[in-house]
Amino acid sequence: MNLILMGAPGAGKGTQSAKISEKWNIPAVSTGDMLRAAVKEGTALGLEAKSYMDSGNLVPDAVVIGIIKDYLSSDKCANGFILDGFPRSIPQAEALDAMGVKIDVVLSIEVEDEKIVERMSGRRICSACGASYHIAYIPPKTENVCDACGASLYIRDDDVAETVLKRLANYHEITEPLKDYYAAKGILACVKGMEKVEDTTAGVMKALSKFEA
Ligand code: AMP
Repeated sequence: MNLILMGAPGAGKGTQSAKISEKWNIPAVSTGDMLRAAVKEGTALGLEAKSYMDSGNLVPDAVVIGIIKDYLSSDKCANGFILDGFPRSIPQAEALDAMGVKIDVVLSIEVEDEKIVERMSGRRICSACGASYHIAYIPPKTENVCDACGASLYIRDDDVAETVLKRLANYHEITEPLKDYYAAKGILACVKGMEKVEDTTAGVMKALSKFEA
């Protein structure tokens, strides 16, 4: 199964992507995670991406298209993959088509803007393994400590309120038109992501039930 996971920032793509990855045993790639790793390592790519990310804007298409092209041509993706956060614009989707990559399904997790803002203000990320928590909805067992690896949790630079609003505006303007793009190809499925994580997971699994795990 070759899958694209769409949704506003904070819609829960990372959480659902991990669950799908486990069930279908296919790798999940998040362009956001790759870019954050490059920023942390201080590579040329990271230096270029940082200012865009910190201000809530999208990194230029050519940069992310290059990263994804390398990744999809690796052996890891031979039996399928999940793209979390790519494509995020029509030119990126066209680039994916031009690579000859066949997408089976595009899953959009739908969450209202108000809920997104509430969610992102409580989001905490593990500084070592990248696991995601929420102070109210998915709290770690010990405050500010990762359950999985014991490292400290932090607030992403781009999760501050002003930047969240910018990211949401960019999502509606630049990324959301992809829903029509993929609906026209007959491969779009939408799932509500408003309630509990388990409810969203149930909706996701139902939408993907025609693909054998
Ligand atoms: P995410 O973790 O998916 O929310 O991504 C964090 C940030 O990385 C975004 O706000 C963008 O600045 C950048 N980014 C991630 N994926 C893409 C993409 N496909 N195109 C452009 N920028 C991206």
